[in-house]
Amino acid sequence: MTRDDPRPAEAAAMDMAEVANRLAIQGLTRAGREMIGPCPRCGGKDRFGINIQKRVFQCRKCGGKGGNVDLVMFVMGLAFPAALEWLCGSVEGVSPEERRQRERKAAENKARNDAKAAAAREQARREAREIWEQGQPAQDSPVHDYLALRGIPRARFPRLPVCLRFHPSLGYMVQVDRQWVEAHRGPAMLAAIQGPDGRFIGVHRTWFDPSRPKGKPAILHPVSGDRLKVKKSLGSVKGGAIRLTPPGRVLIMGEGIETTLTALLADEPPGAAYWAGVSLGNMAGQRQLGQGLKYAGLPDLGDTEAFVPPAGVERLIFVQDGDSEPRLTRSQLLSGIRRAMALRPGLRGQVAPCPAGVDLNDVLMERPEASDPVP
Ligand SMILES: [Zn+2]
Repeated sequence: MTRDDPRPAEAAAMDMAEVANRLAIQGLTRAGREMIGPCPRCGGKDRFGINIQKRVFQCRKCGGKGGNVDLVMFVMGLAFPAALEWLCGSVEGVSPEERRQRERKAAENKARNDAKAAAAREQARREAREIWEQGQPAQDSPVHDYLALRGIPRARFPRLPVCLRFHPSLGYMVQVDRQWVEAHRGPAMLAAIQGPDGRFIGVHRTWFDPSRPKGKPAILHPVSGDRLKVKKSLGSVKGGAIRLTPPGRVLIMGEGIETTLTALLADEPPGAAYWAGVSLGNMAGQRQLGQGLKYAGLPDLGDTEAFVPPAGVERLIFVQDGDSEPRLTRSQLLSGIRRAMALRPGLRGQVAPCPAGVDLNDVLMERPEASDPVP
């Protein structure tokens, strides 16, 4: 490969679904912008995924990941030059004319892919906004009853934030053979996801059923019968937050709305803001991965889309939910805190366990036994 070899750019701009097809990877099913299935190297059922929009693949088990050339290396067991040649042909004997043509084609492919991704993002945001606009004020709605079942009684929290709304009958759609099918319809709590500039970028939906324990409806997949998550986001999440209060100098953030509201009820220090981070992936961002780094909690600062607190925040506290795998979750939250500290000099950060063990109030009062500041 020479410095002016056009093939890496050409390879990077290729449609990954086509590359996967050429590689004859078996058993992948299309789900939105992803293709999911068994790993061509280590098998399984659904551990392997390709994000067609971002042109990246990953295996959750054996750790294989990367772009188009990496995929060829991964599946064919080739070294980089051979994989590049497999994808784009030989560089030898390519005339300057053909080289320019290849470069132009690669640029066109990239522009087309970028435009497609932008259009899909815009479409999802439009649909999110439509759902949000169908919502009614959460105040004095069954959202109070749902929250009460999640330990947030109306008497303690009489005024619901305006970023929450109530939808009396929202459809829950799943994709079956590329068709959207309604798996459930029922009441839902809507939450606005706001981007760093405060603009609406997506809607978070929690379907609920006040007649069931914890208000959780049983939503089953129409084909497999698998129980589905009762929470879904539409539109963009990355970089965003559900702003349950106005911004403040101290920002307290849990992943879910319920955890964050629980923290809010536990104590309300002056100037503190309570925002839900929507997903761990958004709070953590990409992490540095590799041998021995799984639990290191080091951010990959190349990820420019993950959540970063607004300027003016002096302390950032991530509240760790009790219900997920504690060690991995903690390393993810640490990564997010360290990212924020790297990008907001002077910011102090902490991960606070909640609700078991330590009272959030101890953390806020900076009692030493409560939690360690993040180095
Ligand atoms: Zn694998």
